[in-house]
Amino acid sequence: MKQLPSDTVRLLSSTQVITSVVSVLKELLENSLDAGASSIDIKLENYGLDRIEVRDNGHGIKAADTPVMAVRHFTSKICSHEDLERLETYGFRGEALGSVCAVAEVAVTTKTAVDDISIQYTLNYTGEIVCQKPSHLGQGTTVSVLKLFKNLPVRRQYYSSKKCKEELKKVQDLLMAYAIIKPDLRLSLVHNKVVAWQKAKVADHRSALLATLGPSAVANLLPCNFHQEQPEISLDGFFPKPGADYSSTSSCNPDKTFIFVNNRPVHHKDIMKLLRQHYTAQYPDDPTQNRYPTLVLRVDVPPSSIDINLTPDKTKVLLHNKEAVLTAVEALLVSLYGCQPGRDPSAEKQ
Ligand code: ADP
Ligand code: MG
Repeated sequence: MKQLPSDTVRLLSSTQVITSVVSVLKELLENSLDAGASSIDIKLENYGLDRIEVRDNGHGIKAADTPVMAVRHFTSKICSHEDLERLETYGFRGEALGSVCAVAEVAVTTKTAVDDISIQYTLNYTGEIVCQKPSHLGQGTTVSVLKLFKNLPVRRQYYSSKKCKEELKKVQDLLMAYAIIKPDLRLSLVHNKVVAWQKAKVADHRSALLATLGPSAVANLLPCNFHQEQPEISLDGFFPKPGADYSSTSSCNPDKTFIFVNNRPVHHKDIMKLLRQHYTAQYPDDPTQNRYPTLVLRVDVPPSSIDINLTPDKTKVLLHNKEAVLTAVEALLVSLYGCQPGRDPSAEKQ
């Protein structure tokens, strides 16, 4: 038996974190949000395979931190695992930038409020700075990722033109989720120099929904909330109005059912199943039996009662009080529609 060379270990673990264009974007976007950005501009070339650029107006990276910003397991967000109990940032593992460096050509340009000028840093395969030069950009950080998966021909070839279009749709769905959860964020997406999508800063969640889903979808939605102390759970959402014909806005695709836990867009099988059962029950003759309504559900619980470190992309979450959360979602459905959705106990095994 032999120990794998460190370059191979690096590549194998990086490609678990960076699996696709959308995974790069999610990591870069979350870094911008963690830096307090109120404006984020994303540029893609050739669906992100040739270039992904994320520019923000956040607090930037301190000059002293730049040598380790892309070295794996370096983070400014937590100091030990105990900090996960109080986690308020999207990032915490210090893996993303370093992982991207292993599968693409990466440059980071950054300026904090105390720096005179911004500096562009070119990084190598291991995330070390190999070159730096002054730049004209203002405060904030711009990360450019060129030639994604240049050293992984199979993964690059996977992106046929059909897959590329699907990936762009996933990028737009991802941006929509952050646009909904962050009303005061300005976001834009430019693909091959054409504006593909944008959202201005707005005052509240309803305006954010209008800007992302459009007036006809929002006309069918009703704000609703639920709060309890023991265990502490807050639910806020926009659910289909009772009696509304949401058949036109729902489909067999869950891409407009937005679930957030502590501001993170997540896939939660049991919450999704509960919602789907409820809305499907209203269309007993539907042959698909698989309805996903357009809705938004925000679940807020103390950071100490969730574990988000289940998958590299942090889209799965373990809720320590899952039963209580599901009961709260049922209570919200009952308060809106006045009937029991009839939870299937098999839905509770995750
Ligand atoms: P993590 O987000 O888990 O800390 P990353 O590899 O994504 O790990 O980022 C490493 C570090 O680089 C972050 O902790 C942060 O200090 C810095 N950083 C990355 N992107 C930005 C950004 N857009 N603005 C400010 N700092 C950033
Ligand atoms: Mg990060």
